[in-house]
Amino acid sequence: MHELAVRHGRLITPYGPVLADLAIDRGRIAAIGKNLNASHTIDASGCLVLPGGVDCHVHLQMQLNRLTSTDSFETGTVAAACGGTTTVIDFVDPQPGQSVMDALRARRAEADGSAAVDYGLHMTVPAWHAASPEALREIPAALAAGCATFKLYQAYERMTLDDVALGNVMRAVAAAGGGVVLHSETGPLIDALRSDAVAAGHSAPIWHERTRPAGLEASAVQRAAEIAALADCPLHIFHVGADSALAAVNAARAKGYDITAETCPHYLLLTAGQYLTRADGHLFICAPPLRWAADKHAIWQGLSEGGLDAVSTDHCPWTRAEKSKASFSEVPGGLPGIESRLFLVHHFGVNEQDLALTSRVSACCTAPARRMGIQDRGALQPGLVADIVIFDPKRVKTLRAATLHEAADWSPFEGMRIEGWPRTVLQRGELLVRDEEFIACPGNGRYLHRTLAAS
Ligand SMILES: [Zn+2]
Repeated sequence: MHELAVRHGRLITPYGPVLADLAIDRGRIAAIGKNLNASHTIDASGCLVLPGGVDCHVHLQMQLNRLTSTDSFETGTVAAACGGTTTVIDFVDPQPGQSVMDALRARRAEADGSAAVDYGLHMTVPAWHAASPEALREIPAALAAGCATFKLYQAYERMTLDDVALGNVMRAVAAAGGGVVLHSETGPLIDALRSDAVAAGHSAPIWHERTRPAGLEASAVQRAAEIAALADCPLHIFHVGADSALAAVNAARAKGYDITAETCPHYLLLTAGQYLTRADGHLFICAPPLRWAADKHAIWQGLSEGGLDAVSTDHCPWTRAEKSKASFSEVPGGLPGIESRLFLVHHFGVNEQDLALTSRVSACCTAPARRMGIQDRGALQPGLVADIVIFDPKRVKTLRAATLHEAADWSPFEGMRIEGWPRTVLQRGELLVRDEEFIACPGNGRYLHRTLAAS
């Protein structure tokens, strides 16, 4: 007799869909099979049973100049849970002069006791730490504390690492057994393009895309892949939305480099046309920018063919008021989306295109878990942690910011009609969400010690 069984669902396992029961004991998946008996049961008839979503790129209560991103650890992770995401990975952003380990402790103090789902942290290595031998010497300690991945920037003004610094940090990370996650654009050059555009009097949102050309994103990816290969460092490219950037990832992969890449729902569903045609086009400013229809098509293709490994959200919400600025160059970058990832990929990928259910689960759960060193989650397999989503493929809703749990007062996906919605969500075998209602305690989320598997 098991403690709990999810019965009569269609399980999406790594080996394909199977009609079966799933039993849970002590927070882990105990068995998958027919007619499993348990003290408690959840009926999943007519539903898909999926592993809990893993979103490896979110920015909760992130400081940017004098602003803080709109979702706290509590509101953001409650929204994640309601969307079927049971693991998020956020960031530690050490300040100038702050030690790596002090920054990690401070960030954990913000999340612990507030996070509603389990969470990990990437360790950012900003330019001032890349130039600091003491900070680089702290990399093994950060790894030992569970930060298996280090966030580097090839762009973003004072965060930018040049190629030499990139190589130095990648060598230090690789030597310690970690991996790099990368914001890949050609930094100083796009900063100059932006200044020139502003000086020429351009303020419209489309200039955000024009001053961050896709070709400069692709060449940054290409350079980073070569530098990572020289450093023997695993590399994950964040937020790929341009066809040419994806091509650069694929070219590196074809050379046998240890590279993976993710995209985000906004690159799958929206284009730079938002900047041109909407009166509130400035809301859609994010970096890299939204691209064009041909890019969108290529990104979907990459997702179904495996050129893109994962879908993350890069959830970085600001209110309408915070995003309303006179010039594109002043708008804080980032879009909300932590809650909507699973059902958007399901509806627009599985329902409307021919994305396989197993590919969708791989992109939203399995691949990000494996790549980010969360070895015991992200798939429906006996022995793994029982993070489970019971997903009703027939539930039809219209996406409204007002009914999402995210704190921002708008959604880039407002008004989209969605078929398929998470109904019930379990974390470590415990109910987080029951019939679309969050019923757990924010603060139950645990910090994840991540370790990359030896390759
Ligand atoms: Zn980001």
